[in-house]
Amino acid sequence: MFVPRNVDATTMRQINRNSVLETVYLCDPISRIDISRRTGLTKGTVSSLVDELLADSFVLEQGYGDSSGGRKPILLTFNSKAGYTIGIDIQITHVKTVLTDLRGDTMQTWVRHIPAHDPLTPDLLTEILRDQIFTAAAAAPASPHGVLGVGIAFPGIVNFRTGNVFYLPNMGIQDWNVIDAFRDILPFPLFIDNDGNCGAVAAVSRHNVRDLVYINAGIGVGAGLVVGGRLHRGHDGIAGEFGHTTIAAIGMRCNCGNYGCWEQYASEQALRRYLRDQGIPEDQIGTGAELVQQTVRRTEEGDEAARKALAIVGRYLGIGISNVLNALNPELIVVGGTLAQAAPHLESDLRAEIRHRTMAANKRTPIAFASSDIVAEGAARLVVNNTLLRHPLGL
Ligand SMILES: [Zn+2]
Repeated sequence: MFVPRNVDATTMRQINRNSVLETVYLCDPISRIDISRRTGLTKGTVSSLVDELLADSFVLEQGYGDSSGGRKPILLTFNSKAGYTIGIDIQITHVKTVLTDLRGDTMQTWVRHIPAHDPLTPDLLTEILRDQIFTAAAAAPASPHGVLGVGIAFPGIVNFRTGNVFYLPNMGIQDWNVIDAFRDILPFPLFIDNDGNCGAVAAVSRHNVRDLVYINAGIGVGAGLVVGGRLHRGHDGIAGEFGHTTIAAIGMRCNCGNYGCWEQYASEQALRRYLRDQGIPEDQIGTGAELVQQTVRRTEEGDEAARKALAIVGRYLGIGISNVLNALNPELIVVGGTLAQAAPHLESDLRAEIRHRTMAANKRTPIAFASSDIVAEGAARLVVNNTLLRHPLGL
């Protein structure tokens, strides 16, 4: 492990403590001696830090491992019920909140719909978030540490370090510092990231891979990249904007000002257009969160126009994902967002495009579809990643 010079003893101990806890978190059940082997810390240091973590209830002793001669080692496990985290996924039409344990398993979910005639302002969003956070916190079971924090996923460009939300397309919010707004309101820390990164964080823990691209296909198309087990944010923190890569040189105008962006062809707004093109009247298309559900229902009832519209979305999703595969050669693609709910009806068209448009092994890259809670769960994981597991120096 690389550690810069001039680190004081307290910070060093915190770094070592988080390394030990992270090792238990990732590898449990595990013995003290195996933690020492994996972290490179001495047996004495590991023993003393484990004692501290046992006293704090973050780690539990659970049974005995195999002995290689001598006494059988006591095995340690991560205590997922030592506290709870709250994760929030903000969408234009609704705000979804989950309460999870420290392993990221969801205990309870809340959805607050946002009326279309009531556009989001920072004040309204603060009110909704405060309400959601305190409702979820009140539902957390009794535990040694209570609620450790809240993570919020935003559908736009944010600075996860400063808490600044620069731009949320289609929402009336710009240059709003969320962490400042909640500093005096919350009794626990708040972390933010964009929805693509939050989805990637949850996907990587669920699928246990090191190279993955998460595609969030909903009102727009966002993405989160995990390269070598770490989020790849790019030089200015805005990597993953695949939704605004051009797939049609002279194409539809996009909200970003460009023409022919992928998200104009493989999003909810694209689905709406394809349904209209297939002759479905506007008032039967469904609004907001119901758009995809209604189209799936029509398809399952044998409606040919709805089936065709979903097939076109699948085709365009496949075209964009082929570009991602050719560029990055990940181990896995995870597709989330509202369009993932239509997976059975768009998957074959999506896969056909990938077979035609990718090179060599990329044709066989597994494509998984995520549940609708994945972004909120990833937001909740920001808390554990940033408080219990991440080194205080951000290593
Ligand atoms: Zn665009």
